[in-house]
Amino acid sequence: MFGKKEQFVKACPNCLSSKINSHLGFTGEGYKCMSCGLDHFQPLEFSLENLEKARKELKESSK
Ligand SMILES: [Zn+2]
Repeated sequence: MFGKKEQFVKACPNCLSSKINSHLGFTGEGYKCMSCGLDHFQPLEFSLENLEKARKELKESSK
C-alpha cells in the first residue's frame, strides 16, 4: 500500500529553507530558521513539489 503519498515539509516563510528548529518546550511555540535567522514564526507547509516551485519563484522575484 505504498502509493503516491505526498510528503510535506515545513519551511521558513522568509527564505523557504527547511532547516528550521522548533522551540517546543522552551519558549512555547515557534520556530527558528537556521538559514536566515528568522525567529518565532509559524512555518509554512509545502509538499516537496510545491516547495521546489515556491523556491524558484522566490529566486526569480529577488533578482
Ligand atoms: Zn529562513
